[in-house]
Amino acid sequence: MAGLVAAARARELGAEPVVLEKGNRPGGSMLLSSGVVWRHRSLEDFRAECPGGEPSLQRLIVEELDDALDWLESLGVEPVTRETGNPLTVGRRYDTRALTGALVRAAGDVRVQEPFQDAQVLATGGFGARLARERGLLLRANEWSEGDGLDYGLARGAGLTDGMDEFYGRALPGAVDESEYVSAAQLYARHALVLDDEGRDLGEAAWHESDLVQRLPGGRAWYVVDARARRRRVRERTVSALVDAARAAGGDVRAADRLPFALPASPKLVEPPFVAVRVHAAVSHTIGGLRIDERARVLGRDGRPVPGLLAAGADAGGIFTGGYGSGLAAALVFGRTAAETALS
Ligand SMILES: Cc1cc2nc3c(=O)[nH]c(=O)nc-3n(C[C@H](O)[C@H](O)[C@H](O)COP(=O)(O)OP(=O)(O)OC[C@H]3O[C@@H](n4cnc5c(N)ncnc54)[C@H](O)[C@@H]3O)c2cc1C
Repeated sequence: MAGLVAAARARELGAEPVVLEKGNRPGGSMLLSSGVVWRHRSLEDFRAECPGGEPSLQRLIVEELDDALDWLESLGVEPVTRETGNPLTVGRRYDTRALTGALVRAAGDVRVQEPFQDAQVLATGGFGARLARERGLLLRANEWSEGDGLDYGLARGAGLTDGMDEFYGRALPGAVDESEYVSAAQLYARHALVLDDEGRDLGEAAWHESDLVQRLPGGRAWYVVDARARRRRVRERTVSALVDAARAAGGDVRAADRLPFALPASPKLVEPPFVAVRVHAAVSHTIGGLRIDERARVLGRDGRPVPGLLAAGADAGGIFTGGYGSGLAAALVFGRTAAETALS
């Protein structure tokens, strides 16, 4: 997303940018996403949710996102809704095909299956594919974000942020087609008893559950839910529907008395029957990356800008460190900022 945004903004400012896209289609993980572009309600909330992130970068997202969303609409893309459905956040939800189409039109010159050799704005989406492979985890993102931007930045002397091992994670019932990345996600750990392979309780998850997914031993767990939990709602679906989605995707869904260990007693297991779902950690994008400043300039290991090099989206780290935030918002805000810096 960030590359398309940067090009759209640069063209609006009178430049003639070219977007070089490694994949066989534009849109990256944005195209596969739920399309909710959001922010925490205040900088204080953002700091509390992502305490390891750089405050000046977080401030920019809080201050600029609403204008950036209006700008998106000026490109001809109407949001599906103007709220996120989550009282902790504000933002808008878009149809990702419509959003990609509008950005491609505004960006102008987008060339697919052309990996970049040299770049002014790095926007390759981080290194989620590489991290997933190295850690033996599933990938729940576009397959092309291998860390090419990161490697290029490092070769140019860039510094790295903290949190290079952190990722935005979701639990999946197994390897699923990319069209099921959203619908098959098992996002109800807060209502489940979460157990490792020996039946030990893995504890509670934060509201976004990305913290828990990152610490699943071996990238695996069982989510056990009772009948009461299965009636709960997660966004617009019930937990029961999410369990059905796991079964439909070929996941291991079984009566909990067929687990290979005895169920521990838990206040979460009250109303039988109890159902167990096998889940696997999946990487959507990395959180650490190249150091940037609030003008999207890549910073060197000495803390000074690397001349002529900008980064946006998940290539830029240090925004969500220690927590969870909207990668689409970061791509939008810093993509626009990168174009403005490049042309200032
Ligand atoms: C299933 C799913 C649901 C999500 N839901 C949400 C959500 O609702 N809200 C939210 O905020 N975030 C969500 N996200 C995360 C969001 O999609 C990402 O944070 C966002 O797309 C990151 O933007 P980006 O520009 O950094 O990367 P991308 O959008 O992935 O774009 C990076 C592009 O760079 C290309 N590329 C890689 N290497 C090269 C190279 N060497 N040369 C040229 N091109 C290259 C890739 O092919 C890709 O097209 C979701 C992600 C997934 C996968």
